[in-house]
Amino acid sequence: MKLLNTRKKILFLLALCLTVTALFAAGCGDTPGGENKTGKSGQKTVTVTTSFLADMTKELAGDYVRIEMIIPAGEDPHLYVAQPKDLQKLKEADLVLYHGLHFEGKMVEVLEKKGTAVSADFPPGDILRLEEDGAEVVDPHFWFSIPLYKKASEKAAESLIRLVPEHEKEIRANLAKYLKQLDDLDDEIRGKIAQIPPENRNLVTPHDAFNYFSRSYGMKVVAPQGVSTNSEVANADIEKTADFIVSHKVKAVFAESTTNPERMKKLQEICKAKGFDVEIVSGEGNELFSDSLAPAGQKGDTYLDMYRSNVDLIVNHLK
Ligand SMILES: [Zn+2]
Repeated sequence: MKLLNTRKKILFLLALCLTVTALFAAGCGDTPGGENKTGKSGQKTVTVTTSFLADMTKELAGDYVRIEMIIPAGEDPHLYVAQPKDLQKLKEADLVLYHGLHFEGKMVEVLEKKGTAVSADFPPGDILRLEEDGAEVVDPHFWFSIPLYKKASEKAAESLIRLVPEHEKEIRANLAKYLKQLDDLDDEIRGKIAQIPPENRNLVTPHDAFNYFSRSYGMKVVAPQGVSTNSEVANADIEKTADFIVSHKVKAVFAESTTNPERMKKLQEICKAKGFDVEIVSGEGNELFSDSLAPAGQKGDTYLDMYRSNVDLIVNHLK
């Protein structure tokens, strides 16, 4: 018994020692001249908020910088609150890139202090503004506009060139290649949407993330929840969406990878009560990507792949 107590004491002291060591180690980054400015390999660190920007940075300068991401793929950026480890990543970054337009709704203050918004140079007339509950809100989901995504890539490239000017030539070449791929994607999407009969071009999703998509490709979009997932969903809005589905004989509604699929089930039940059967397109591999790419290694883990996967899903279920 006594032996056990001694062992417990030793273990406790050991744990305490480790904690103190860890605390000191964490504090080291604060000391001036610490090695927090560059990564292990000597590369500069770019901290980005989302999987979109991690992918964009990788396309433009993946060989020349180290990339840190804050919001894990699959999580909802509208609601994401920065953790202490994220604040550390922001503090240690040589460059911080974020979306802006209030997309990272709970991190605005800290990002505005240190970061560069890739949306900063968008022509104001190209940014969608919607009315929600009597107030005007900016729609942050610009990535579904390929012209705006190209502008965002140009802004990111500019910042990356300032960070590693010795690689300007390569980054400019990567940018040119990427812009061409985005143009090709735009043509491809247009061709695919044309396969949906015009009367079926209605996209119903949980939250209002597809207005830029709608503007680009002429599809009507309807969602029971507003542009941020931060708002309550009123029963009246679900009812209104159900009426739209029934009156337009919408064949299928789509779940998103970052929002709760339950809402679409409720919508389906209301439609059924009105005598109309609507399919819910959901489940792994069958969800629309709205506010995040897929986790690395899965289908939809790059912007180009994500957009293709979305459009294929939409066309296959609505044509
Ligand atoms: Zn959203």
